[in-house]
Amino acid sequence: MPHGKPAGMPCVQLDDDLRCRLFGTPERPAFCASLRPEPGMCGESRDEAMALLAALETATRPD
Ligand code: SF4
Repeated sequence: MPHGKPAGMPCVQLDDDLRCRLFGTPERPAFCASLRPEPGMCGESRDEAMALLAALETATRPD
């Protein structure tokens, strides 16, 4: 995929516990390292986070 994975598809670097295999290594993409989580994207639970992220994806999708 020349422009990365489609929205909603898990990153190939996630392990079985949903932890980043590249965390703390130079191979971790700069974009990932620069992302600052905040309550508006994480909520209070995994389900809430997934719903918030889906809403953000829809709101920022190119026409
Ligand atoms: S931090 Fe980046 S590389 Fe690591 S799992 Fe998340 S999206 Fe993938």
